[in-house]
Amino acid sequence: MAGVELVGLTKNYKRGQEIIRALDGVTLDIAPGEFVAVVGRSGSGKTTMLDLLGLLLKPTAGSLIIDDVETTSLSDRQRAHLRARKVGFVFQEYNLLSGLNVFENVMLPQRYAKDGEAGRKRAIDLIDRVGLSDRIKHRPTELSGGQMQRVAIARSMVNRPSLILLDEPTGAVDTETAQQLVDLLKLLNRQEGVTLVLVTHDLDIAAQTTRQIRLKDGKVVSDERVGEAVPV
Ligand code: ADP
Ligand code: MG
Repeated sequence: MAGVELVGLTKNYKRGQEIIRALDGVTLDIAPGEFVAVVGRSGSGKTTMLDLLGLLLKPTAGSLIIDDVETTSLSDRQRAHLRARKVGFVFQEYNLLSGLNVFENVMLPQRYAKDGEAGRKRAIDLIDRVGLSDRIKHRPTELSGGQMQRVAIARSMVNRPSLILLDEPTGAVDTETAQQLVDLLKLLNRQEGVTLVLVTHDLDIAAQTTRQIRLKDGKVVSDERVGEAVPV
């Protein structure tokens, strides 16, 4: 099935003699179009889980299947290719390139996808939909935190990924701006049917998603669905 399947997904780190079970045998199915919040205390394994889902890390054990592709047996090159096609990332610190303007930042992931004119149109459309048409030539330093995060969200979607991973995307902005970003994510989730996995420690934000997964010591301690994922 399309979507994401985690089967006994495990990531250990070694610190000296000690083994840290950052993610400890997590088994989950995430269906296409779900808007999932991952919550839990600092150190509970949220970023590790996100980085595994984004193929940035290799698991120590277990299996990760993205849209029917078993990823743990892929070569580095195949993983990079799958990541470029299937996954978008949004980070707390925006990670925009300061030397590029809004349009160039949103276009950046397409270097690997080579979409030509359709890609340019897609970028312009997304910049419009995140409300930044009048800032398209601005550099990141000329934007507010909320605007920079809108650019990062547009950039994450430009290749039409099936999965967008967001690590504390509202962690650096005020409450009102955070709510506007979440409203935008809800809209894009519905419009594009893209699966969102959002790490947050803000429970008001988590409550607005369709599913809340709580991690503790690398394990899932609760998994609650509220309402249905909206079909496309
Ligand atoms: P969270 O994002 O929930 O704060 P993390 O996934 O960053 O949690 O970390 C989970 C656990 O793994 C923590 O105990 C953390 O210290 C440890 N950890 C994370 N990254 C590394 C690393 N590169 N090397 C060693 N330990 C790590
Ligand atoms: Mg983290």
